[in-house]
Amino acid sequence: MRRPVCTNTDLERRIILEVGFSTARGQNYSLAPELLQHLAECESCSKWLPIWAEKGAATYQTLQADEIVRLGMAGHPGIRKKRLKAGTGFFRPFEDATGRGLFVVVRETAPLELRRMEVMTIDSFERLDESAFPTK
Ligand SMILES: [Zn+2]
Repeated sequence: MRRPVCTNTDLERRIILEVGFSTARGQNYSLAPELLQHLAECESCSKWLPIWAEKGAATYQTLQADEIVRLGMAGHPGIRKKRLKAGTGFFRPFEDATGRGLFVVVRETAPLELRRMEVMTIDSFERLDESAFPTK
């Protein structure tokens, strides 16, 4: 299959930086008019855009997970904690009033082993019992 090629790699680089940095900080990206124009015209950039955004979002989630575990282990009151067979579960609600948050399970070995990371609701977290996510 033919691979589309970017028609203006300067604009491509600016799009990647804006999308990557914004999504990695958990923010929405906003593109300048000339970048939007390029996206509308460039088959390559419009194809890659969702992937750039996804990568940034994954980076953001990993950084968040890291912070949640660090705060949770220090006993921070904003982090809920639960002992599970698979390790220690930490949950921090999002600040958007959707009732959802990021849930992380680590095994408290040195170094810590990240077992699981997912978005779930506070209710789902509260309903988890010790046998949830058994180790294989
Ligand atoms: Zn392009």
